[in-house]
Amino acid sequence: MKINEKQLELVDKQIKRILASGNYYSEVYKKAGITGVSSPEEFAKIPFTDKADLRNAYPLGIQAVPDEDVVRIHSSSGTTGKPVIIPYTSRDVDDWATMFARCYEIAGITAKDRIQITPGYGLWTAGIGFQAGCEKLGAMAIPMGPGNTEKQLQMMMDLESTVICATSSYALLLAEEINKRGLKSKIKLKKGVIGSERWSDAKRKYIANELGIELYDIYGLTEIYGPGIGINCPDQTGMHIFDDYLYTEIVDPVTGEVLPDGEEGEIVITTLVKEGAPLIRFRTHDLSRIIPGECSCGRHYPRLETIKGRSDDMFKVHGVNMFPSQVEEVLGLVDGVSSEYKIDIAHDEIKNRDIIMLTAEAEGRVDFAVTAENIKKLFKSRLNVTPKVTIVSINTLPRSEKKTKRVFDHRDE
Ligand code: ZN
Repeated sequence: MKINEKQLELVDKQIKRILASGNYYSEVYKKAGITGVSSPEEFAKIPFTDKADLRNAYPLGIQAVPDEDVVRIHSSSGTTGKPVIIPYTSRDVDDWATMFARCYEIAGITAKDRIQITPGYGLWTAGIGFQAGCEKLGAMAIPMGPGNTEKQLQMMMDLESTVICATSSYALLLAEEINKRGLKSKIKLKKGVIGSERWSDAKRKYIANELGIELYDIYGLTEIYGPGIGINCPDQTGMHIFDDYLYTEIVDPVTGEVLPDGEEGEIVITTLVKEGAPLIRFRTHDLSRIIPGECSCGRHYPRLETIKGRSDDMFKVHGVNMFPSQVEEVLGLVDGVSSEYKIDIAHDEIKNRDIIMLTAEAEGRVDFAVTAENIKKLFKSRLNVTPKVTIVSINTLPRSEKKTKRVFDHRDE
């Protein structure tokens, strides 16, 4: 989707503000001779920004406003290296809440709803984003934060929560608990707003059926406000992204070439009005595509397909590029297998070849040996690799409230 006049004007303002601020990116743009932007062609030449830059600018190098204008910081989890700090002005905080409230509205959630919020609070953008949007909407926030499943279920029943906000892993854990304890008739949930990670159709169906709820995917990342910058509508044709705050591109994750609407690649986002830490052409490493055309719901916001995975989660075995989403797709085809799995990749020095070991869960009613054989065959035919497959009982693999790490590469050890 080509950048429009209004968006270009806003980016031009953003660049001029960045240059005047003397922040990390002002140096980058000065060196590159960038003074502003007046055409889509010029925009396409602006260098990408990436998480690595933000780490270099740690702690507050990307701040583009005076200290007195900053009201809050958030930090993204640093699994590798330094964390990233994002400063927010009061307008940024308010814009984010406005977008988040819009997400709830699109999902059909109203001021009458009671929203149980299980994502974490603190440095992360998760919990507080869900809460600010809820308060902006006028609904009742039940700010649980993560964990303590016992208490989550108690509050869910006593307060008659109508909306659950969670990661897909935690929603799955809650659905399994509710199922196990036979509590389904005692809960009043109608909708789930699920954030932050790619999840399979099998998992989605299980959660929707067990909890009897409609599910909505919320999109966002700490560097760009946080969760709540886009959500799918009841027509379920992809996530609407708010183009009055953000301009979204899809690029080839390897070459950086901008791809036409409809083609799959990496999401790149430009903030149009963000003050504390404006980012131009930020590489999210999330994989998706822009869905061409207009949604049947009548909203004009552009749409992104549900996140396919992360370009940096891609792993290579025998020279074949693989994504966790492909593994999930294969597992979704096998009877009795859950959506949880673990992959270990090692190198056999003697045979000089990579070995892929897959651990998957299956229900007790199916034959584990037959199931393992089926998975092997599907991998061979669809992905052209043959893993060693181990089947374990359901609930053996770890469930977590945060993003679950599923691929372990032991080849460099
Ligand atoms: Zn729609």
